[in-house]
Amino acid sequence: MIAITGLIGSGKSLVADIVRGEGFEVLDADALAHELYKEDAELRRKIAENFGKEALNESGINRKYIADLVFCDEQKLKLLESIVHPVLQSEIEKRNPPFIEAAVLHKWPEFSKKMQEIWIVEADEDARRQRLLRKGLTEGDVERRMQTQKPLRVESGERRLENNGTEAECRDEVLQVLGRHIPKGIKRNVLLKKYCTFKIGGFAKFFAEPESVEEILELLDWCRKFKIAYFILGGGSNVLFSDKGFDGLVIKIGKNFIAGKSLHSVIQEAAAHGLGGIEKLQGIPGTIGGAIYMNAGAHSQQISDCIKNVTSIAQNGELITRTKEQCEFSYRSSIFKKSGQSLNPVNRGSDNDEIILFAEFDFIPVSEEIINKNRKEVLAWRKEKQPLQYPNAGSIFKNPASHLSAGALIDACGLKGSAVGDAQVSELHANFIVNRGEATAKDVKALMKKIIDEVQKNHDVALEPEIICVPF
Ligand SMILES: Cc1cc2nc3c(=O)[nH]c(=O)nc-3n(C[C@H](O)[C@H](O)[C@H](O)COP(=O)(O)OP(=O)(O)OC[C@H]3O[C@@H](n4cnc5c(N)ncnc54)[C@H](O)[C@@H]3O)c2cc1C
Repeated sequence: MIAITGLIGSGKSLVADIVRGEGFEVLDADALAHELYKEDAELRRKIAENFGKEALNESGINRKYIADLVFCDEQKLKLLESIVHPVLQSEIEKRNPPFIEAAVLHKWPEFSKKMQEIWIVEADEDARRQRLLRKGLTEGDVERRMQTQKPLRVESGERRLENNGTEAECRDEVLQVLGRHIPKGIKRNVLLKKYCTFKIGGFAKFFAEPESVEEILELLDWCRKFKIAYFILGGGSNVLFSDKGFDGLVIKIGKNFIAGKSLHSVIQEAAAHGLGGIEKLQGIPGTIGGAIYMNAGAHSQQISDCIKNVTSIAQNGELITRTKEQCEFSYRSSIFKKSGQSLNPVNRGSDNDEIILFAEFDFIPVSEEIINKNRKEVLAWRKEKQPLQYPNAGSIFKNPASHLSAGALIDACGLKGSAVGDAQVSELHANFIVNRGEATAKDVKALMKKIIDEVQKNHDVALEPEIICVPF
């Protein structure tokens, strides 16, 4: 936990807002105290007992009444704190936020000891006074409040931020300090539509393309420490990002890992050695990691056919190698998908999701001639049957267990060509939605809903999405 603290009027809320704006959760201790006044009946009872019934109202506490009382009388302030602080402390420990904006730190030495770092926002008296007056406090109020707060006593881990200048100057200083807590390879505000074949999606707050296990470990540690959500991205050929983007870190697996290499390059390399077995997956535009996660397949071949083992990294940094059987491959699924992301594709540091890094293959010896013939045939088939001239994410729905494919069911509902905005059911292949230009995730989802409803109504079949919809 990092505390942002400072005397009244020093501008700690401004610093907290800047940190928040950069994508980090900051708990406001003051706001939390007010939440507790509202919810904690025992706390309310004690306050009423010590400060009278007028101290309470329907929003929890009568702030003006309490402020008038305690800022005139240090004893009353101490009494209020002795009632509130223990409850506040235990709640903060429970929530364990990455940052906390806490005015009370100087009165609470045990709390400061728990902080990994303490940012003390400092401003001279005049600057503080002017800020408080600008907030609408009377001169008397300002003086009283400034009197009740004495300089901070912090034992260790402190970092002083001077805030006598403009907001822009304060922002520059905060970003510099914050930057030391952000791993080097992380980029900010990266447009996700550039990283997926659908060409849809807003900005990722953070984005990284790690090329080594060490870098991945650093990113996982960072996400855990700062409670940053993360999403693992391969080639982006089976994802629909939100129009709002992604409020966390997108980790695109680099090509140094086998998982980050394109399926195409691995098929080609194997073919060059007279090895095949998954050459009919040629034309699937993803990475090995994405293909393993989804157990990608086509023309009766699937990646699992040639998998010997897969190595992934767990959140705690443990490398796990699983045999093919242990990967629990099934139709468009694997243990990696089942472990959580299919239900909640965004990891918020609480699930057991793993990142696929390496794989060993058991290819079959096949002559290069046959491999190349197979590859050519499937590529020609794709060109004829799939709307490759438009951005898309492949099959939108899984084929149901019924005798008809998802595409045939959608086609039978007369939905080919049906559109919402620039998202359209392909005229060529009914299980593809194409982006005719400016389609949004909202358009695609509305069209998906329409398809699901129609297929349910006309065929009594519940279609299940194959694409991964990544929430903001
Ligand atoms: C034109 C077109 C044709 C297609 N044809 C087929 C087809 O014939 N058969 C088929 O099965 N699919 C097909 N697809 C869908 C898609 O290409 C595959 O599902 C592919 O395997 C996804 O790989 P990716 O690297 O793009 O994964 P992404 O789209 O980046 O990610 C998909 C999912 O995998 C997860 N993931 C990716 N990499 C990792 C990793 N290293 N560790 C853990 N999780 C990871 C992501 O978090 C996400 O949940 C097609 C897509 C297009 C656009």
